[in-house]
Amino acid sequence: MTSVTWSPVTRRAARIERVRERMGELGIDALLLSHGADLPWLTGYRAMPLERLTMLVLPQSGEPVLFVPALEAPRVADTGGLVEIRSWTDTEDPLDLVAAALSGGGHRRLALSDRAWVSTLLGLQQRLPDSSFRAASCVTAPLRSVKDDGEIATLRLAAQAADRVATALQASEIPLIGRSESDLSHEISARLIAEGHHRVNFAIVGSGPNGASPHHDAGPRIIGPGDVVVCDFGGELVVPGEQVGYCSDITRTLVVGEPEDEVSECYEVLRMAQAAGVAAARKGVAAEEVDAAARAVIAAAGHGHNFVHRTGHGIGIEEHEDPYLVSGNRTPLATGHAFSVEPGIYLPGRFGMRLEDIVVVGDDGPESLNQADSRLAVVEG
Ligand code: ZN
Ligand code: ZN
Ligand code: ZN
Repeated sequence: MTSVTWSPVTRRAARIERVRERMGELGIDALLLSHGADLPWLTGYRAMPLERLTMLVLPQSGEPVLFVPALEAPRVADTGGLVEIRSWTDTEDPLDLVAAALSGGGHRRLALSDRAWVSTLLGLQQRLPDSSFRAASCVTAPLRSVKDDGEIATLRLAAQAADRVATALQASEIPLIGRSESDLSHEISARLIAEGHHRVNFAIVGSGPNGASPHHDAGPRIIGPGDVVVCDFGGELVVPGEQVGYCSDITRTLVVGEPEDEVSECYEVLRMAQAAGVAAARKGVAAEEVDAAARAVIAAAGHGHNFVHRTGHGIGIEEHEDPYLVSGNRTPLATGHAFSVEPGIYLPGRFGMRLEDIVVVGDDGPESLNQADSRLAVVEG
């Protein structure tokens, strides 16, 4: 098991260093971060997506300054002296303040949060007509996708909490039969919180033909005998002493009563496909090879056209982030990459199934953070 030896502030200082190095490589003079995961990743502070501007101005060299609305300033925890906090009042124009901070140092090539409002970009372009703008992700995404020890430890805790909910479903501790999908979804959500999540991101329940829609909204359909039920859920977990949460995301498929042969056969294919995807997740292998490995198994069984989405997505502060396991992504996997491996088979009008674990690439191979039973769970009908 990993032991966490670095303090959050030390880890963030190291991240700021790496960000600056990459800014240098890409020729970016300043990084401008508002909403989204980059800001909490670097500072421990998450800006609410309000109309009032929160913005970290991180120059390639020189002191970083966090502009924050005065009424939000009390929420900014101690950043350990990593950034200077400058609060602004409602009678000031924060974009003028940001522009003034930038115009001094000849900062022409800027990178702005992917999640910033369009109004922020337009306002900055108007005030800094000689500047060029890129998306901050060109700097941050490849760095943020490689998790450090502390991040992996938190992802593991989140996965274990989600596993306990999955296991309760598989053991019929959470009943399925006679309940609506939305009722079951609410119980899964409550259990995620009870198991230590601070927030639920989603709790998909797709029963019978609804399971053939991968992102089905849990609805009024009552779960009955013979139904195949796809449960895909996750939330955000914050460890004590930290301010930033990391996500869980797991899918398990259950069946009410003994499954039809076709269901069992499809599930065996799915399970082999998922295992093949996990096994392919080794450092140096292109991200698309994980997708190809899982897809080949499903295609060989004649269900290629029933696997209608990419094999997985990176996970961290955001539920979906780099790296994406999809054909065309030739990014080589690296130690510390964390992502889902979640192939599915969907037979429209009949049933669907998906199996999802979060996997971390290690020096010696892949580690599955989720350990809940991967078999098709047969619950009492
Ligand atoms: Zn999904
Ligand atoms: Zn999921
Ligand atoms: Zn997922």
